[in-house]
Amino acid sequence: MPLLGVPLGPLRILLVEDSIEDAELISDQLLESGLEAQFERMDSEAGLLAALAQGAPDIVLSDLSMPGFSGYQALHIVRELRPRVPFIFVSGTMGEENAVEALHEGASDYIIKHLPMRLPSAVARAIREARSEQEQSRVEDELMRAQRLESLALLAAGLSHDLRNILQPLLIVPDLIRDRSDDPKVTRLADVIAESGRRGHEMVDSMLSFVRGSRQSSERVCMERLFQAVGLLLKSSLPSSIELRLEVEDEQLAVEGNFTELQQVLINLGLNAIQAMPDGGQLRLAATRVPAAEGGEQLCIRVVDQGTGMDETTLQRLFTPFFTTKSAGTGLGLVSSRRIIESLGGAITVHSTPGQGTCFDLQLPLNVQLPADEQAAAARIPVGRGQRVLVVDDEAMRLSLLGNALSSQGYRLHLAIDGAAALRHFQEAGLPDVVLVDGEIPLLSAGQLLAEMHALGYRGPAIVLEGESARAFAKTPPPPGIRVHVLPKPLEMQRVFRAVADALEIG
Ligand code: ADP
Ligand code: MG
Repeated sequence: MPLLGVPLGPLRILLVEDSIEDAELISDQLLESGLEAQFERMDSEAGLLAALAQGAPDIVLSDLSMPGFSGYQALHIVRELRPRVPFIFVSGTMGEENAVEALHEGASDYIIKHLPMRLPSAVARAIREARSEQEQSRVEDELMRAQRLESLALLAAGLSHDLRNILQPLLIVPDLIRDRSDDPKVTRLADVIAESGRRGHEMVDSMLSFVRGSRQSSERVCMERLFQAVGLLLKSSLPSSIELRLEVEDEQLAVEGNFTELQQVLINLGLNAIQAMPDGGQLRLAATRVPAAEGGEQLCIRVVDQGTGMDETTLQRLFTPFFTTKSAGTGLGLVSSRRIIESLGGAITVHSTPGQGTCFDLQLPLNVQLPADEQAAAARIPVGRGQRVLVVDDEAMRLSLLGNALSSQGYRLHLAIDGAAALRHFQEAGLPDVVLVDGEIPLLSAGQLLAEMHALGYRGPAIVLEGESARAFAKTPPPPGIRVHVLPKPLEMQRVFRAVADALEIG
């Protein structure tokens, strides 16, 4: 008798059975039906424990009573040690009361030995059900994990921002203290404060790069494949009262993004929709091309349910972290979905009518070159190996920030608040490998400073920060022997790193 449905693969089946003949009868019958399986027979607690210790079997088939051991004991042990493994009683003496109690105690089914026709299909069904439950909890676990990471990222991002503001004075005040006092004790204290500030900033930076590091890489995501995967994953959570419809306009439809992240968004929206339809209904996911506001076309993914819908208050708080109306909700699904969609240059909109249902629209740009991932760009910029960088800037905050950022890139930093301080520095410590100078420093201008440096023998490169209005070399042009790179303000750290690396010709 061939078994219905997809083959279940080679199975490991435990038979808790004292009669060798009965065990053979059962295994023969299962093998004849087309099941592929290996059987292990035991009739004692020790035997069962040993077999379970070797790993989870696909199913346990157990007799009700054996000398010195009982089917109920076996059931309790299996439920305790392997709660997901299905358990079927196969007994000659199973009365109706016993059967009811068996199911109550957590057995998946019961079969009467003398009427064994039902055995193969009951075994196959129990295994299929157990596997689908396992798949569902795997999907849910995965989602929970992603959402926990998301909340961590949110916390870290918020914390980094606040910490930066708090640490700011620690970077500026020490310079001010040094300027106001020659007392070596006071300068040493200032150094201690500056060092703590620098370390604090480094920690904040590494926290932020950790958060950004959790960003995924970008690839071409084909909608058809994405929908197939989402369909498979949602199926395990889909009650029979809900009809799932997946519609993709054509198989060419694709966006730049990360498959796993987009899948996470659709699962989030899909599960929300399923949870909003306790009485059933239709869940529709549709991907189409729609005209974009700025001309051309964009992708629209629509997730539509016929569920409870939302009132105005819920709609307003939907994307607030930790906002949930569910007893077991995390309130992070939509926050994280929005972050993912927006990071791809897209947008999420919602329409909902209480009592009728909800429609989430995801708009995503089609065929657009994504802005290069900040983190990847930073990784490609070569870092320094202790080259000496002199930064001359009269704005104390920018000076400190540049100093900190560049020293975290592996350079040795010297900071000067004006041209005079820079010249003093050369007398004490010699010339640097590269000089980064603000084009608007007062008194000694950038051009004059470079000329002085040239006179002292400096032939290295110079990076000059230039504001929108003021030309850096309006009065004094730079000496011909010095290569000048101009960096426009406002500054972006990545561009500064790049300019310094280029100027030093490293990498
Ligand atoms: P969670 O699902 O953990 O509650 P979400 O961020 O995914 O967190 O959703 C936040 C809240 O938004 C939900 O608790 C629910 O009140 C509401 N919501 C989201 N999607 C739907 C929907 N399709 N229908 C009705 N309410 C929804
Ligand atoms: Mg959710």
